[in-house]
Amino acid sequence: MSVQAVCFTLRISDRRIQMEKIYMIPVNDAYNGTEECPFCFLKNKSENDYLEYYLGPSLMEPDTRKITNKTGFCPEHMGKLNKSVTNRLGLGLVMHTHLKDFHDDISKDMIAAAPSKAGILKGRSSDYRSRLNDIADRIDKRVAMCPICEKLNDAMKHYAEVTAWMYCHNDDFRKKFTETKYHCLPHTSMLLREASKLSQNEASDFVSALASSSDLAFNELIGDVEYFTLKFDYRNSDKPWGNSKNAIQRSMRFLSSDRRDFDEQLGKKQS
Ligand SMILES: [Zn+2]
Ligand SMILES: [Zn+2]
Repeated sequence: MSVQAVCFTLRISDRRIQMEKIYMIPVNDAYNGTEECPFCFLKNKSENDYLEYYLGPSLMEPDTRKITNKTGFCPEHMGKLNKSVTNRLGLGLVMHTHLKDFHDDISKDMIAAAPSKAGILKGRSSDYRSRLNDIADRIDKRVAMCPICEKLNDAMKHYAEVTAWMYCHNDDFRKKFTETKYHCLPHTSMLLREASKLSQNEASDFVSALASSSDLAFNELIGDVEYFTLKFDYRNSDKPWGNSKNAIQRSMRFLSSDRRDFDEQLGKKQS
């Protein structure tokens, strides 16, 4: 039975397909011969778009400002916004209103939560313990909020859904997906979860393609990292580095998704 024949069972309504079409072009682009994980490529691109949006057009949108006043950004995205030099004033405006919102929400309650000292007239009470934990929970919840993370997670879910759909419905894309060098492990996990929603026959082809590229990537990296370690033996010092020179960084990207901290240049500066 052909792959097309087994894929007809995929049930996505027409309306949903229309909605998902906006995700198809970037997914196709990501699978066009990139050496890195296509999903890391999509993630980086979307993340950069959102960072630019929150330092630009969003500043003039009252509805978005209401959200960022409340949420601020997570530590990772604050760091990335900080590195961007495109709109320092915009960043200042967002920070100012977010600080005010956070302050209004938390400071008075925190001052009131300080327990009075137990004395002769006032006995000991443990009520304050739960009040302190409640405020700590509120702070932790707000610190973790981030509209960029939220949008990014949402976009990645759509990309995974569209990838599985295109694999089942588009011959060209299926070939590209099968020939993809590797998906990093966090994105492999995301695609496996997506595959769990497919019919058994659809999942069979999709997961076989995913698993075989993953197996090749594991073996290549294991070999390259081993060669890297063997190069430290003086008997191998004259041997060429081959593909092993950046084997550590490639392994880190494979294990943890592509992050700038695993940049080869950074490794050189620190060594
Ligand atoms: Zn990835
Ligand atoms: Zn974030």
